[in-house]
Amino acid sequence: MPYAICPGCDEDIYIPKRPKLGEVITCPGCEAELEVVSTNPLELDWYLGDEEGDLEEEEEEEEEDEDEEDDL
Ligand SMILES: [Zn+2]
Repeated sequence: MPYAICPGCDEDIYIPKRPKLGEVITCPGCEAELEVVSTNPLELDWYLGDEEGDLEEEEEEEEEDEDEEDDL
């Protein structure tokens, strides 16, 4: 049966359905949000929510070519 250990409180978390990678599970013991990082063996890690402060910055340069011809 699929279960994992909470990294926060060492509680055995039983997962009733087949866990999927990236699934977020809330620990019933400490209410921590945990993400499935491995399914075989089942491992949980802290879910980093959607906090602001992404380290990845995507720079998008938009070049707009506006050819405006003067038609008189
Ligand atoms: Zn916990």
